[in-house]
Amino acid sequence: MSGAVYLVGAGPGAADLLTVRAARLLGQADVVLHDALIGPDILALAPQARLYGVGKRGGRVSVDQRFTCRLMVRLARRGLMVVRLKGGDPHIFGRATEEIEACRAAGVDVVTVPGITAATAAASALGASLTARGLSRSVAFVTPTVARGGTGNDAWARAVAAAETAVIYMGAQQAQAVVAALLDQGLTAAHPVAVVESASLPGQHLVRGALGALPQLAAAGGDGPKILVLGTAALAAQNGLPVPVAGLERAVA
Ligand code: SAH
Repeated sequence: MSGAVYLVGAGPGAADLLTVRAARLLGQADVVLHDALIGPDILALAPQARLYGVGKRGGRVSVDQRFTCRLMVRLARRGLMVVRLKGGDPHIFGRATEEIEACRAAGVDVVTVPGITAATAAASALGASLTARGLSRSVAFVTPTVARGGTGNDAWARAVAAAETAVIYMGAQQAQAVVAALLDQGLTAAHPVAVVESASLPGQHLVRGALGALPQLAAAGGDGPKILVLGTAALAAQNGLPVPVAGLERAVA
């Protein structure tokens, strides 16, 4: 008897931004291994399943990636249907590759289901296209964060400088270093930025300003996940496109 692993994107947080397929698989799962950012209303879609929190959050105690891979494989080999539920999209800064390889190496069937990634949820929060016509034909999704044991380089910063719009994941906690790296690449301190916290969730919070002020902008708000948007999308929002979010006036003032 052999189970299977489904690597499922849970989207940016709001339960109704799950795909229909994700909701269906949650309703069928025997076991759900979920990230730290997955809220109770999403987990409630799998009332029959055993839940394991295997999340990572920057700077906090987190579960080792190898442990997650082993657990997933062990449960599937028992014949269980395992949903590995990940924030956003599994294939955007989601460690999906390691988990897929672990399954394949163990002969366990693995299927991935896409989700709405934080970058596009942030664009909706801003009411601004990452590819505004006539302004941006390129978008870079980057992170300055390096996995434990890895080594960094400045390819991410070069990608930001080369793209008309950039979205920086896992960058808010090192805003000072982000600014320094981007100024090194020739961006100016006036380059437009937006920080979107908890996109799609009740705690959604936006701040806009200039790259030079990013450390202050990134420190504002609460301790929800934050994503940085640079370039035309942040600028368009500043120019007064409608932003359907309570609290914006307070954030901008
Ligand atoms: N696979 C996920 C990204 C995981 S990395 C995806 O596709 O979205 C985790 C980072 O994503 C956080 O540090 C933050 O930068 C960003 N993030 C995730 N959810 C977010 C949200 N609701 N609002 C803002 N940023 C978010």
